[in-house]
Amino acid sequence: MSLTDATHDPALTSWVASANAADCDFPIQNLPFGAFRRAKTDEPVRIGVAIGDQVLDLKLAAAQCPWPDGVTDLLVPLAAGDLAAFMALGPKAWRRVRAALSAALAENSDQGPFLELCLVPQSDAEMQLPCRIGDYTDFYTGIHHATAVGQLFRPDHPLLPNYKWVPIGYHGRASSIGVGPHEVRRPHGQVKRPDRDMPDVGPSQRLDYELELGAFVGVGNALGDPVPIDRAEAHLFGTVLLNDWSARDIQAWEYQPLGPFLSKNFASTISPWIVTMDALAPFRRAFAHPPGDPAPLPYLDSEFNRTHGAIDVTLEVWLHSAAMRQRGLPAQQLMRSNFLDAYWTLAQLLAHHTVGGCNLQPGDLLGTGTLSGPQPGQGGSLLELSQGGRQPLVLASGETRAFLADGDTVILRAHCTGPGARRIGFGDCIGTVVA
Ligand code: CA
Repeated sequence: MSLTDATHDPALTSWVASANAADCDFPIQNLPFGAFRRAKTDEPVRIGVAIGDQVLDLKLAAAQCPWPDGVTDLLVPLAAGDLAAFMALGPKAWRRVRAALSAALAENSDQGPFLELCLVPQSDAEMQLPCRIGDYTDFYTGIHHATAVGQLFRPDHPLLPNYKWVPIGYHGRASSIGVGPHEVRRPHGQVKRPDRDMPDVGPSQRLDYELELGAFVGVGNALGDPVPIDRAEAHLFGTVLLNDWSARDIQAWEYQPLGPFLSKNFASTISPWIVTMDALAPFRRAFAHPPGDPAPLPYLDSEFNRTHGAIDVTLEVWLHSAAMRQRGLPAQQLMRSNFLDAYWTLAQLLAHHTVGGCNLQPGDLLGTGTLSGPQPGQGGSLLELSQGGRQPLVLASGETRAFLADGDTVILRAHCTGPGARRIGFGDCIGTVVA
């Protein structure tokens, strides 16, 4: 079964010249969706597609450009600024619009002269949340993160016995999800210091980031109507980068027995562009648990999930401190990992989330959990990179970091490369810590 079509052809180029640069995150093979407002206006939010360093404004594009039969109707929710309504239409509609956008933005397209007038430079677009996020669930698929953090919190049994059977997750807080660039205020909370008898309350001294992917639900399911894994992919619209900011000192005191609460609910940051599952098709890979581990239970297993369940996404964390900015130093890369190292696939997360009858809705967000790699230095959080704060990192500026300082900008980046495919990227997920 081929997941790819003419829209993935690596030879395809666009009349938007910036999209054809080799290192561009948004070539014509990507076509991610986002919501934006033109800078210095108070216009209603519009939906756009990133192409090169531009945004194709779909409100203008729907009105000012001729489209093939059947596409005009599908553009109606997009022109109205309602991405969730488009996401609810399902994979056939998503692919039809993707094909139409690809043809319209391709070199020598007859629609080019109309659409040239519908471009907004990304530098003039203030990005907004792509849609209303009704519910947010964060999973824990990064087995190398789970093991490393488990060793810090529970040296005697780092990986709990359920880990290799059940995709661990918890219900997070949707209201505090923002889109980057995002200012994140250092949270206050209860902390119990080891040298004191009683907890005290104050600003977190161990503020951290978590490198994750977030998957947006497109098509929902009715309450009491589980989504079998062989239909789970049809409910997934696309992915973003997700920074699940975490206050480790608050977390360590509050997390037992019900899990994180105030240590995580003060802010999460997503990247502004939803890279669709269709755009990720060339980067799908076979999925299997390591030899010797339990096979997934039948509701978490399908032939498609075994042959195509994993996605090859290279992930990076970069740090730019206030001192680096003042001295004109560039941001520094802290680590690199890959989503292939996750223990569960996105389809397994969605199938598991609904197996008990929970209803998902268009715009719900599923976080993967911190995506650390297997090697030392591939931790997806400072908690891991600094060994629980014991071995601070030395930065290029000469500063050290065990946890985040005020003024630190954390930048998450991701891209996909593979044989026979054009490189695509996610754009930056940017958040800055303020006091
Ligand atoms: Ca997390």
